Amino acid sequence: MTDHQAYAENQYPHLRQATAAFEARLRGQLIRPQDPDYEAARRVYNGMIDRRPRLIARCVDVADVVAAVNFARDNELPLAIRGGGHNVAGFGTCDDGLVIDLGPMKGIWVDSGRRRALVQAGCTWGDVDHATHAFGLATPGGLVSTTGVAGLTLGGGIGHLSRKHGLACDNLLAAQVVTADGRILTASRSENADLFWGLRGGGGNFGVVTSFEFELHSVSVVLGGPIFYALDQCDSALRFYRDFMADAPEELGAFFAFLIVPPGPPFPEHLHNQTVCGIICCYAGSLEEGEEVVKPLLEFGPPLFQHVDRVPYPLLQSAFDPIVPSGLHHYWKADFMPELSDNAIAAHVKHGPGIPTVQSTLHIYPTDCAVQRVPAQESAYCHRQARFVHMIAVASPDPEQMPAGIEWTRGYWNALHPHSTGGSYVNFLMDEGDDSVRATYGENYARLVALKNKYDPTNLFRLNQNIKPTM
Ligand SMILES: Cc1cc2nc3c(=O)[nH]c(=O)nc-3n(C[C@H](O)[C@H](O)[C@H](O)COP(=O)(O)OP(=O)(O)OC[C@H]3O[C@@H](n4cnc5c(N)ncnc54)[C@H](O)[C@@H]3O)c2cc1C
Repeated sequence: MTDHQAYAENQYPHLRQATAAFEARLRGQLIRPQDPDYEAARRVYNGMIDRRPRLIARCVDVADVVAAVNFARDNELPLAIRGGGHNVAGFGTCDDGLVIDLGPMKGIWVDSGRRRALVQAGCTWGDVDHATHAFGLATPGGLVSTTGVAGLTLGGGIGHLSRKHGLACDNLLAAQVVTADGRILTASRSENADLFWGLRGGGGNFGVVTSFEFELHSVSVVLGGPIFYALDQCDSALRFYRDFMADAPEELGAFFAFLIVPPGPPFPEHLHNQTVCGIICCYAGSLEEGEEVVKPLLEFGPPLFQHVDRVPYPLLQSAFDPIVPSGLHHYWKADFMPELSDNAIAAHVKHGPGIPTVQSTLHIYPTDCAVQRVPAQESAYCHRQARFVHMIAVASPDPEQMPAGIEWTRGYWNALHPHSTGGSYVNFLMDEGDDSVRATYGENYARLVALKNKYDPTNLFRLNQNIKPTM
């Protein structure tokens, strides 16, 4: 317990009583700083984040979430909501407040006939892919299986299937939400449609989502994996990637990367720890057609290494997990790009080869086809005109490597930013202030403020990429 927390407990005995009453209402566990589980429970994915909440409520059902929201509001405690805890800005935890940890809420119900899945808010994408794959179905999710469904979907959600089936939030059919006043609402196109609009990209600003209903698609075995090219070919590889993607069928998800080859299987020893560039692909359609589609990617270069094969979709979705375990230190910068222009390519060629650690990345994700078919005003997720989003990330288990890595990230981002749409992707933002949030939401910002005024006028849900109410 920090001095501040001890002081508050002594100064405010009513808080002790209110906490006891709250705990009596909870079915889940309430963790305090003196509890043995506290150290592990306060941590989030980004090891750089070191916050000490006063209480962590591990909610097991919607009633627990209602009790927790009411308790935080009535006692004016800072409130953090945690789905998978992957947010690099660390919004899944807080100092001196209450964390609502949805981790225990892991139910998934698949209705294969109607191609729907009802997913509780503590699930990861690994949980969802596992459950839906049994039916030969999937919905677009993130590229690392340990990422939370909740945060990723509420910010948009870009993945291998996005060119064909859109963002995760484009596949959201309904959500159950506990609002700041403790009500339980359903948000869909026909019920509380304004809230439904805000949930699809607006992050955790409007309430605690307790479950998500997703549309599912026929996806089972895909053709996918990495293809690496020599670093001195990166200029031509980037141009080739740009031109190839312009005509590629939307069944193909393929992102460009600079990376240091991890020192282990399946990578050949002579490439271990070498900096390369590459394309990671996933063809989710007829596998025979896919083999023809990816042929040019396998012929360009020729590649130093390729591992493209027929794999169950969940296997590809978890292929990166070992490289990015929880607890690494992370610092990220990102932007939406209208196109991969010659100027942007020049910036990549200058900065990409300087990637500092084996866990660091430059990724360029395509956000065209199905993502662009949704009008920008249709959901809170903005920048639908962007064909790509890039993410520059330094990551390391060693905090001493971070200052140089952060400098690399910022220098790289500064070189690319003038060629961007001017806004970033909310799920890749660190805590970068109000101007970044405004730029991220662009023309949708005013409507989001109006929604915030309606659903959370006192800004109870403010530990996020915050849309500030004006009331
Ligand atoms: C290794 C890694 C891989 C990633 N890959 C991808 C990717 O492929 N595609 C992509 O689009 N993004 C990706 N991301 C970014 C990811 O979308 C964000 O980090 C996202 O915030 C993670 O969601 P979470 O639930 O795990 O995080 P959390 O830290 O738990 O939450 C993130 C934010 O959402 C809010 N929130 C969480 N749950 C709820 C809820 N139930 N109701 C209301 N608000 C809630 C939190 O308050 C917080 O502000 C990746 C991140 C990491 C670290």
